[in-house]
Amino acid sequence: MPRQITLADGRTVEVECLSCALTSGLLAPTGGVIYESERFHVHQDVAYPIRGLVIIASKRHFYSMDELTGEEQLEFISLIHKVRSEQRTRLGIEKVYYFYNEDTTHHFHLWMVPRYDWMKPFGHSVESLRPVLLHARHHMNDEENKRAVLAGIDELREGLDGFSL
Ligand SMILES: [Zn+2]
Repeated sequence: MPRQITLADGRTVEVECLSCALTSGLLAPTGGVIYESERFHVHQDVAYPIRGLVIIASKRHFYSMDELTGEEQLEFISLIHKVRSEQRTRLGIEKVYYFYNEDTTHHFHLWMVPRYDWMKPFGHSVESLRPVLLHARHHMNDEENKRAVLAGIDELREGLDGFSL
């Protein structure tokens, strides 16, 4: 069943699987591709303008952690490690929340959501995630923040340039 997706710039698109649309290049993610290999695709979430927020999606269409191949497992953890270290060194991100669920409507992807001071009023840990994301979507679409998000994407892209296992 196709679903309506709202992008960060307010446009909506209809796709069967957002992860497939993004990782195949059918849909360009906000700010462009941060990194891609044969097996994975790294991009800013298209819906939420938070500097340094990163999605790591598999290129294959599957849903569960136990479906990763041996090669995917190795690359996945190396890629998370690399993205995390670039978030720290280039963007000064001190804490990251990781989120992944297997009953997603889009295929296998991990959210890496930086934890900023402005998020504290929304609570702590998993309970804060949805309010934080919605706040960003509805109240952080100003030009200054959008520039900061795009600059963050460029930094991460540079940091991941040439990365391989
Ligand atoms: Zn898919």
